[in-house]
Amino acid sequence: MSNASPTLTPKTPASPDTEQESSRTGLDPRNVHRGFLEHVRYSRGKNPENATAHDHFMALALAVRDRLANRWVRTARTYYEQDVKRAYYLSAEYLLGRALGNNLLNIGMYEAAEQAMREVGVDLGALVEMEPDAGLGNGGLGRLAACFLDSLATLGYPGMGYGIRYEFGIFTQDIIDGYQVERADEWLKFGNPWEIVRPEKAVPVRFYGHVEHFHGADGKPVARWVGGKTVIGVPYDTPIAGYGNNTVNTLRLWQARASEEFDLKLFNAGDYERSVVEKNDSEVISKVLYPNDAFQAGKELRLKQQYFFVACSIADIVRRYLKNHSDFRDFPKKVAIQLNDTHPAIGVAELMRVLVDEKHLPWEEAAAITQATFGYTNHTLLAEAMEKWPASLFERLLPRHLEIIYEINQRFLRQVQIRYPFDTERIRRMSLVEEGAEKKIRMAHLAVVGSHSINGVAELHTNLLRRDVLPEFAEMYPERFNNKTNGVTPRRWLLWSNPRLARLITSRIGEGWVTDLDQLRKLEPLADDAAFRQAFAEVKRQNKVDLSRHIKGLCGVDLNPDAIFDVQIKRLHEYKRQLLDAVHIVSLWMKARRDPSTIIAPRVFLFGAKAAPGYVEAKLIIRLINGISEVVNSDAGTTGLQVLFVPNYRVSLAERIIPAADVSEQISTAGWEASGTGNMKFMLNGALTLGTLDGANVEIRQAVGDDNFFLFGLTADEVIARKRAGYRPRDEYERNVELREALDLIGSGFFSPEDKNLFRPLVNSLLEEDRYLVLADFASYAAKQQEVARAYKDTERWTRMAIHNVAHGGIFSSDRTIKQYAEEIWRVKRIDVKP
Ligand SMILES: *Cc1c(COP(=O)(O)O)cnc(C)c1O
Repeated sequence: MSNASPTLTPKTPASPDTEQESSRTGLDPRNVHRGFLEHVRYSRGKNPENATAHDHFMALALAVRDRLANRWVRTARTYYEQDVKRAYYLSAEYLLGRALGNNLLNIGMYEAAEQAMREVGVDLGALVEMEPDAGLGNGGLGRLAACFLDSLATLGYPGMGYGIRYEFGIFTQDIIDGYQVERADEWLKFGNPWEIVRPEKAVPVRFYGHVEHFHGADGKPVARWVGGKTVIGVPYDTPIAGYGNNTVNTLRLWQARASEEFDLKLFNAGDYERSVVEKNDSEVISKVLYPNDAFQAGKELRLKQQYFFVACSIADIVRRYLKNHSDFRDFPKKVAIQLNDTHPAIGVAELMRVLVDEKHLPWEEAAAITQATFGYTNHTLLAEAMEKWPASLFERLLPRHLEIIYEINQRFLRQVQIRYPFDTERIRRMSLVEEGAEKKIRMAHLAVVGSHSINGVAELHTNLLRRDVLPEFAEMYPERFNNKTNGVTPRRWLLWSNPRLARLITSRIGEGWVTDLDQLRKLEPLADDAAFRQAFAEVKRQNKVDLSRHIKGLCGVDLNPDAIFDVQIKRLHEYKRQLLDAVHIVSLWMKARRDPSTIIAPRVFLFGAKAAPGYVEAKLIIRLINGISEVVNSDAGTTGLQVLFVPNYRVSLAERIIPAADVSEQISTAGWEASGTGNMKFMLNGALTLGTLDGANVEIRQAVGDDNFFLFGLTADEVIARKRAGYRPRDEYERNVELREALDLIGSGFFSPEDKNLFRPLVNSLLEEDRYLVLADFASYAAKQQEVARAYKDTERWTRMAIHNVAHGGIFSSDRTIKQYAEEIWRVKRIDVKP
């Protein structure tokens, strides 16, 4: 579709390059003020005196989007004209959080907006708070995708995100009588000012139907997927602004719409009712995010979601490629596609289908192109998270893709056979198809065979991936395996969320750290500067006062800002061991009740976590923490201990909590957490890690030094050895009085007076199996917690340690991670967008 309609072209075109700063583009307070008022009137249709706070938010957001739009079109034009290679990030999740504050900072108009709002009597901070989080993700994996988008734009890489525009993101969590209660996340209820819908770029996607095989004019076999149902993918674009440059990249999210022709056919046949039902069936595809973290829900709708957004994205990528190319052999020179976990792994079969069936490339050529295009990031070692889809489901929903997967498998297994003759066991293990009562497609194997790069997300995780999860693949294709340790964007997780610390850092080392986080190293000598230490400690104290005020408003609880703020915020999962934290709190409290002098320093334990709605054990752990909280907080005056479960943990809440944290609890069973990124956010904000040698904790400890990290627990190898030797959790219980007392108290119903047996299943499971070795690590954890308390008493030493953490946080910038992806996997180049 052409947009160069001559009637729309102005007589005297005002080139954007020479245009005066206007109410749409000016970054000064006067123009922001004008742009804001214009949006109140012309976009919201309100007189300023009638505008609500929501109108104010929308008007300011639209004024910001105007400023982004200008750079957005220039970025698009630059990429197109220079015909650059692009990196496409395919992810079923983007945990973006709020955009207003981040956009204001990234394009350098925060102060101007603050002043402009002051002039109209509006508090910018209050507007920022009005924005609902874009919670299109579960946890770390989705947040990583969001950090990557920020880094791609900030570094000036031609990158684009593709995903699903869920109408309902991760559920809103209420806590009622100590239990998690889920509510639908209506994030779009009041409209989304950032996105632009592009119906002209809609893509049809087929489901079901059957495959016709015949011979083409040249006598070669041809396959054609026909029939079934068509759903339309409608793209919604969100601008992603780089920090301090002119790059604005795109996040393109697909919404499912019923196809009209199909609709109409039924309607004309007089079956109105069925046509409406069918419409619903189509549109339900992008309705809701599956709320499982690290667990596969084997639902047909989930596979539909995956294929839906992948098919739309690949069609879009191919369409863009064909704008100035015709030979698909150059496709990998212009296109890199990264699979964020196996959720989009069906993309391998889809690109093959497009190249072979629609573009009529020979199989071998298509396979070479596909493999040179895709990279696959593995995010988990958990068996229950490994995606496997019944072949029968595939056959019904995506019949041609199943054929293609079988063909890929057959050719692949032939290679295995040649390399390892007579090793039928190996072939069984490596096959894309798991045989058994029910035949299943192993999506990770499809991703590995279809990609030229397979990466883990922390050194330890990549090593375990090579050694334990995909050993035969690592042996056969060692050159494909690599590590890309995760990172977080310092714009959101330090500059934006912790303005006090950001200002202090900038006052001492300048502002270069914002885009070159290794510069934080310049803070190291300042650990010896008493004035700096005092200022640093004062920042933390003020952040704790702020958080306490916020929590008072949220939960009505008064926290003691002089206490250690000991924080565990992350998804609720047994492997993350919130239960270890909770059991230890009970044991501390019991000791304190007998003898308050056992408490070395007062402590506030903060939790935040959503549990998957169907995850019974996880929900019971939330109930337990709330039960403990009620008891412990009732005599906080004598013990100095407080416990709080903050409801509805999400990005915007993390932004408030992390700057106020003293202790970062990263206590997963070693070998289970692929990387963690929460751990990195805490480190950058001067919290000390109490952690196991798991995921990126290993690298955090390496960076900051053993003295500035509280290590405890079994190593990943020791965990395996321990289980192999026949782990008996009851022995730990018998051996350790404090542990036994705590478990007995929990099991007795003390924290659940209304149902004495409520927590029996949790305790029994610990005593009988303890899959995550909570009891095995308890003594080590408790001892290390004592050390934490003692260290905190030495304020000067503690502050030094905290400063060291910040100073060595540079390598955990997602800018570093993205540079590695760009240089080592994607081969894309940074490109300057002219102002
Ligand atoms: C960073 C982040 C996560 C990931 O935390 P981990 O501790 O690495 O599991 C999850 N949820 C939110 C909202 C986050 O900001």
